[in-house]
Amino acid sequence: MNRARLQAALHSPHPWRRLFHFAGGLVLTSLPVSWRRWLFRGERYRCPVCGSSLRGFLPLHRPYHRYCPVCWSLQRHRLVWLLFERRQLWAEGRGRFLHVAPEPALTAYFRQHVAGYVSLDRYARAQVKMDVMRLGFPDGAFDFVYCSHVLEHVPDDRAALRESHRVLRDGGVAVLLVPIIAERTIEDPSITSPVERERLFGQFDHVRAYGPDFVERLRGSGFAVEPVTARAIASAQEIERFGLPLDETIFLCRKG
Ligand SMILES: [Zn+2]
Repeated sequence: MNRARLQAALHSPHPWRRLFHFAGGLVLTSLPVSWRRWLFRGERYRCPVCGSSLRGFLPLHRPYHRYCPVCWSLQRHRLVWLLFERRQLWAEGRGRFLHVAPEPALTAYFRQHVAGYVSLDRYARAQVKMDVMRLGFPDGAFDFVYCSHVLEHVPDDRAALRESHRVLRDGGVAVLLVPIIAERTIEDPSITSPVERERLFGQFDHVRAYGPDFVERLRGSGFAVEPVTARAIASAQEIERFGLPLDETIFLCRKG
């Protein structure tokens, strides 16, 4: 995985910047949380996920990324936090929560609110090692499924969506995010080179680039879908202060 990442970085338009950011990120990560909170302390910005007051978010790795230097949340993580809070989603279930490919920045937040938290990943560290295309849980086992920026890596995303729908109870909520970067979804399983995948699909390990027609795949899997953007749940001041994304859509999906 690191070799493919390195290969894609070296073929990118800014290889030295990518390598510099990679090293800088490693150094910052090695510092204690309290040091990072002190180093980046400020009044102008606030990370809602970890509650830190900050002088800025970090544009590490990609020009459009804005990391919280304390908890490493990205713009989309802070938007997800806001969605759960403002739509009071926690009140809707008994707290059986499936977190697919868990992001460390959100794990603690989710666990605070649920009684039955399960994380899974095919490759990385998680409670359960499992493929999202074949979930080993009974029908209706969960109140929530959260799966963010995963499906663009999954060979058969329709199978993953069918499985997510199956393991939800009737009325259960799936919170799904994918990068929308194409006018219509493009995919080609014959393209396997990291450099070509980065060029066509946006990242060295993506297997497709989604367009807005992603919503049709969700509906085809049986979900009722409400696309939610930052502007729908936050004011302009909050979007600036919390470092929220304007180009991200959360697909708030319900079963039944
Ligand atoms: Zn934070």
